[in-house]
Amino acid sequence: MAAFIGVPLVVHEQPRGILAMGRTGPGHYGEDDLQNALAFANQAAIAIENGRLYKETIAEKRKTETILKESFSGIVVTDVDLRIVSFNSGAEAITGFRAEEVVGKRLTEVLGAEIAAPESALGRVMATGQRMPPQETVIQGAAGLRDILQGTVALHDANHNLFGYLVSLADITRLKEVDRLKTDIVANVSHELRTPLASIKAYTELLMDGLEGEDRGLRDQFLRTIDQETDHLSQLISDLLDLSRLEAGRFEVRKGAVDMGELLLAVLRLLEGARRSQEVLIHTEVPDGLANLMADREMIMMILRNLLSNAIKFSHRGGEVLVSLQQSPERLVLRVVDHGIGIPAEALPHLFQKFYRVRSATESGIEGTGLGLVLTKQAVDAHNGSIDVESEPEKGTTFTVRLPWA
Ligand code: ADP
Repeated sequence: MAAFIGVPLVVHEQPRGILAMGRTGPGHYGEDDLQNALAFANQAAIAIENGRLYKETIAEKRKTETILKESFSGIVVTDVDLRIVSFNSGAEAITGFRAEEVVGKRLTEVLGAEIAAPESALGRVMATGQRMPPQETVIQGAAGLRDILQGTVALHDANHNLFGYLVSLADITRLKEVDRLKTDIVANVSHELRTPLASIKAYTELLMDGLEGEDRGLRDQFLRTIDQETDHLSQLISDLLDLSRLEAGRFEVRKGAVDMGELLLAVLRLLEGARRSQEVLIHTEVPDGLANLMADREMIMMILRNLLSNAIKFSHRGGEVLVSLQQSPERLVLRVVDHGIGIPAEALPHLFQKFYRVRSATESGIEGTGLGLVLTKQAVDAHNGSIDVESEPEKGTTFTVRLPWA
């Protein structure tokens, strides 16, 4: 080699490499060549450093994107006009919408106006530009309304220019439901206790005042009401006790031979008062020679009583109810069919939750505690059976219970 120039590649005053030039032909390098080599080395060093920074930035971006994408919390990024830029899997899970169907749309179009209402976290951040603590709000999900805890941060670039918002969503629908249920429990139980107590007290006072005089018929009527209301009270209390016992896992299944036909008649006798006041007609279908069921008589009675009393209660006046027992080789199938007010589809998944009552039932003033079906399901489960419900509003409801023979 005839000539050689070597200059260091320096980035931030740190040597990062060498730029080497050589020539084999005749001639030599002068001062100019050295200056050119140095200038070129500077450019090359900057390019190499930029390349490295770019790679780092891309890696960092990927990392952040993965964190955002995989986070269980819902994270939505919008531009300043609230158009959705990114929608992570947490947001998909909470709202029921897929990212590809919502990216590019306005947030309020997708989740409802409330999310950006003036008093919402997003609304306030938009108005004041300040950080806000998360707030409860309601969004319109794909499958209905969801309660959400929503936080918002305004996003600024390096030059402090606003370029969008980061909206985080936590689904608190279940928590709110439990909260509402607890309030309902207290309201329901106290209401349920107060109504029969008030009537017992009123009739007792009438009797003490001797209002019935010599009228034995009237006296008997007063006493009968007091008797019925007392039964109602003890029913409620025993439901509550059964429930706490079931919950504590202290419900012992005492199996014995149960004659289902006979048990059904006993339950119908118990419900005769309710049936008559609702003017409901009850048909029964019990096959001849139905085998005995090996089960806990008390629990099976509870199942029959709850399903039948609901069928009566939620029937229209003068309606008809069918109770049928069928036998298959493995199971006894009990069906209770009514043609009453029915249950809306969205309420069906909640029927077996404690204290849950369908709004149409409470609104039409039909009394109940929302415990009957919880107890029924627990009793069915304790026998390794199954319970299903089919219903249509204003058409009626069918409950089907399948119980193994032993
Ligand atoms: P309760 O009858 O004391 O309210 P349940 O647990 O037995 O409680 O029933 C829960 C809710 O399910 C009822 O409040 C009612 O809204 C609905 N439901 C149950 N059975 C029927 C039925 N046969 N027809 C219509 N709605 C029903």
